[in-house]
Amino acid sequence: MNKRIVVIGGGYGGLRTIEFLAKYEDLDITLIDKNPYHYLQTEAYGYIAGRFDMHDIVIDLQEWSDGFKKKVHFVYDKAISIDFETRLVQTSKSAFAYDYLIIATGAKTNFFSFIPGLREFSYGVKDLHRTYNFRVEFENLIYQKLQKDNCEEINLVIGGAGLSGVEVAAEMANTIEMYKKTIGNRVKTIKIYLIDASKTILPGMSDFLIRNTQKRLESLGVNILTDTFIEKVDKSYIYFQNSQKLKYHFMIFTGGIKASSLNDTVEASKNKISQFIPNRELNIGSQVNVFAIGDCVEIQDAQGNMLPPTAQTAERSAEYAANTIRKRIDKKSVQPFDATVLGIFIALGGRWAAGELFGVIKVKGYVAYLLKKAITHIYYLGLHLRINAGYKNRIKDPR
Ligand SMILES: Cc1cc2nc3c(=O)[nH]c(=O)nc-3n(C[C@H](O)[C@H](O)[C@H](O)COP(=O)(O)OP(=O)(O)OC[C@H]3O[C@@H](n4cnc5c(N)ncnc54)[C@H](O)[C@@H]3O)c2cc1C
Repeated sequence: MNKRIVVIGGGYGGLRTIEFLAKYEDLDITLIDKNPYHYLQTEAYGYIAGRFDMHDIVIDLQEWSDGFKKKVHFVYDKAISIDFETRLVQTSKSAFAYDYLIIATGAKTNFFSFIPGLREFSYGVKDLHRTYNFRVEFENLIYQKLQKDNCEEINLVIGGAGLSGVEVAAEMANTIEMYKKTIGNRVKTIKIYLIDASKTILPGMSDFLIRNTQKRLESLGVNILTDTFIEKVDKSYIYFQNSQKLKYHFMIFTGGIKASSLNDTVEASKNKISQFIPNRELNIGSQVNVFAIGDCVEIQDAQGNMLPPTAQTAERSAEYAANTIRKRIDKKSVQPFDATVLGIFIALGGRWAAGELFGVIKVKGYVAYLLKKAITHIYYLGLHLRINAGYKNRIKDPR
């Protein structure tokens, strides 16, 4: 009898696991996602700023799953609990039995409850809904500015200067500059602020990335406020711990994440942001057939440093979990997960990026942009080939 593999979450980690496992005839795969689409969060900065469109950042999961012929069964439903004893995933409408389970449910924006007003008055970029709402509101603003007499000063604030915060700030600044053609000098009335409680932007990243990102943001006219702790937000102002306040019109919060709420229903060791703390084979609890990958789990490198949540780590942990499942089925020995980060590339507005590979190759500017673009292109290509195959399979064999 075929082994039943259930994957919860069709994000970067979930899809990579399936790509790896779908080639085996002796496995039946079920993908469960609460959304009918795969959201390319890594490209959200471009969508938010109006450079990319919806079709650049959203992929239909049914169509993608159909690309594996009948091998992958897609379920559009929310997983609400897992019973390790009976090996069942309960969704809001049904239940799915597994022999091997991969939890790849990612994370959401952590609108810290100790900052009153943060959740109510800011947008996040971790889910499509809030990202879409921001874009609509922002386009509205540009439309209003088309009216000659609208010279009202607008402050756009990005709270959190980690990877996603700097990418959003840079792309917004670059795009706003391009609106010169559309609204002339009134473009100068839109100001961007990037705020972080840490001493520098990109806390934890290398000097090279921090220095070059800071320079690029400044050249784009972004106002950077570090060492600045947001204490409270209301409809019109952001209040800081140092007793200053800033009038704002839009706020995007990228200052923290929290594991998806499915984690809260599972009894296992977790950190402060509800990420699972797995063993070295990425199993949670004592379940050798249950793996947690990507943003929903705390991943450490060989030195015990906690790695930032990235698509790269989600994909590498996915490949590892898929490989380990194959080995366990084949009764082969397994090695612990090696979480080394291969490199990082940061999109910094227009055709400009900064990046590092293997800790030694350091690039910035147009070359780094081309490398970043190539990485994204390869990812897209994989998804599109699968979707095209899904489309053809559907025509041959309509549901
Ligand atoms: C603006 C921005 C820029 C970024 N830039 C980069 C970058 O340049 N490089 C990089 O490596 N990383 C980047 N990241 C980080 C990267 O996007 C994440 O680390 C990555 O998405 C994590 O992948 P994942 O598979 O763990 O989770 P996700 O991609 O978040 O996928 C989780 C999936 O699980 C589903 N799900 C959640 N709960 C349930 C449930 N209960 N039932 C069913 N389905 C559920 C969700 O719908 C989703 O489809 C960026 C993030 C942002 C926001």
